[in-house]
Amino acid sequence: MFILRLVILLVIVAVLLWLLKRMFSPEAEPEQLKSDKSENMLQCKYCGVHVPESSIVSINDEPYCCQEHADLDQ
Ligand SMILES: [Zn+2]
Repeated sequence: MFILRLVILLVIVAVLLWLLKRMFSPEAEPEQLKSDKSENMLQCKYCGVHVPESSIVSINDEPYCCQEHADLDQ
């Protein structure tokens, strides 16, 4: 049964690819992907912390995580 062997081989390859994908992707990725989809993350120019775009304090087109860091960077 050549077809049966081919199917089994395909299943084994698929499982191996799935395992490889899992091995090389960091565990936090699913959560990160979720937040990336819902909201764009920007980096604070002062402290480098990543903040959702909606809570960014934007001064002179520069993103900051809070008003305090915006003031400190001026
Ligand atoms: Zn900051």
